[in-house]
Amino acid sequence: MECFDVAVVGAGPAGSAAALAARRGGADVVLLDRSDFPRDKPCGDGIAPEVLDVLAALGVRGVADGYPPVPALRLVSPGGEVVARPLHAGTHTIPRVVFDHRLVTAALGAGVRFRRHRVRSVERLPDRIVLDGTLAARVVIGADGAGSVVRQALGHAGNPPGHLALALRGYAPAPPGPPEQRIVTIPGRWPAYAWSFPIGDGRANVGYGELLRGGPLSREYLLERLRTLMPDLDLDAATGWRGHHLPLSTRRPPPGRGRILLVGDALSLVNPFTGEGIFYAVVSGALAGAAAAASVAGPPADCAPSGTGRGSDRATGSATGTGGAGAADLYRRALARRLHGHLRHTAVTARLGRWPRLVDAAVRAARDDQGVFDTLLAIGLADGRLNLHTLRHIVRHL
Ligand SMILES: Cc1cc2nc3c(=O)[nH]c(=O)nc-3n(C[C@H](O)[C@H](O)[C@H](O)COP(=O)(O)OP(=O)(O)OC[C@H]3O[C@@H](n4cnc5c(N)ncnc54)[C@H](O)[C@@H]3O)c2cc1C
Repeated sequence: MECFDVAVVGAGPAGSAAALAARRGGADVVLLDRSDFPRDKPCGDGIAPEVLDVLAALGVRGVADGYPPVPALRLVSPGGEVVARPLHAGTHTIPRVVFDHRLVTAALGAGVRFRRHRVRSVERLPDRIVLDGTLAARVVIGADGAGSVVRQALGHAGNPPGHLALALRGYAPAPPGPPEQRIVTIPGRWPAYAWSFPIGDGRANVGYGELLRGGPLSREYLLERLRTLMPDLDLDAATGWRGHHLPLSTRRPPPGRGRILLVGDALSLVNPFTGEGIFYAVVSGALAGAAAAASVAGPPADCAPSGTGRGSDRATGSATGTGGAGAADLYRRALARRLHGHLRHTAVTARLGRWPRLVDAAVRAARDDQGVFDTLLAIGLADGRLNLHTLRHIVRHL
């Protein structure tokens, strides 16, 4: 049996950030994914500038190289109100086949080991977690996305209808005109929207997503909605159509228990308004990795007699850390400090936002006031909060 300090299940942005942070904390880390990299992940590919800040703090630079920031955003509200403004620090559109591969490469460069491995079973022992009977770790970080096996092992079901969205994306020729991110919402099915995010290479990532309310949504339906909302797109020339679930942050399981932590989509950290999840993925991953490393810090102890490799002697505990047992407590506190306030504001905003007239008023307010625009953007793409100035402006525009 191979033994490690920390095993990270899933090598998306959450998993790579977790692996990098744990490695920087001195842990012996293995990163597992069912796919080899590079691999595609259905996504809008919109990377907020705050994502790059989190990655820079982990020592990762150059992930956006070759993908210039998109300088403007145009948003159409459910009632047809329009705001179009420059983005101070533009959002990049980086195909996930590139972005995720760059993050995995950075993790490997930092000394993380990678295994192609689909995790099927998670066994909790008093002093370690065993994956599929073949690999042991003192702490396991579940970064395995919307259908997380690690989350299921903790006894938490996936998000129910009302807290789960479905979106379809493809790559189409970029529409003519200066590059801008375009988001068009829809009155009847709100919350739902179509998007077009130019990549900078003549293509745009385009798609449509909608809250699931109980019934299934077909690919034909999602495509039809996109066609209706963005008639100028050449969808016949589009390629790479793929759909995926988005578990919204309005219903989250606890972030971990004992030696098992959940991050990113596995923890349902997707913004209920915008569908953004990459910022949360890297933030939660970084916090979980740091907590895992801190919890296993200290001199190595004995592992299983059959252990192999440098990590083989580090699975049972230490003098200064908690042997991994306290990882979830450390992580819960760090996550609360960083995101609790923001997530409360997001939940309130999501409840208010179910009322389309309020969204119309917010878009009118954002059109009239750069401060309101910036605040709403920060709530939708990073860890912003509502403020009195924004609320006053929205009420005035009701
Ligand atoms: C259509 C669509 C558009 C989106 N647009 C945006 C956007 O523009 N901007 C944004 O910020 N967010 C967007 N999101 C959300 C974003 O894609 C997710 O929030 C983000 O990918 C979460 O990262 P993650 O690392 O938690 O999970 P993922 O990126 O899903 O990575 C999970 C990894 O785990 C692996 N895995 C799964 N199960 C196992 C297993 N059992 N064993 C081993 N490995 C496993 C998978 O192969 C995968 O590599 C969009 C989502 C969708 C569906």
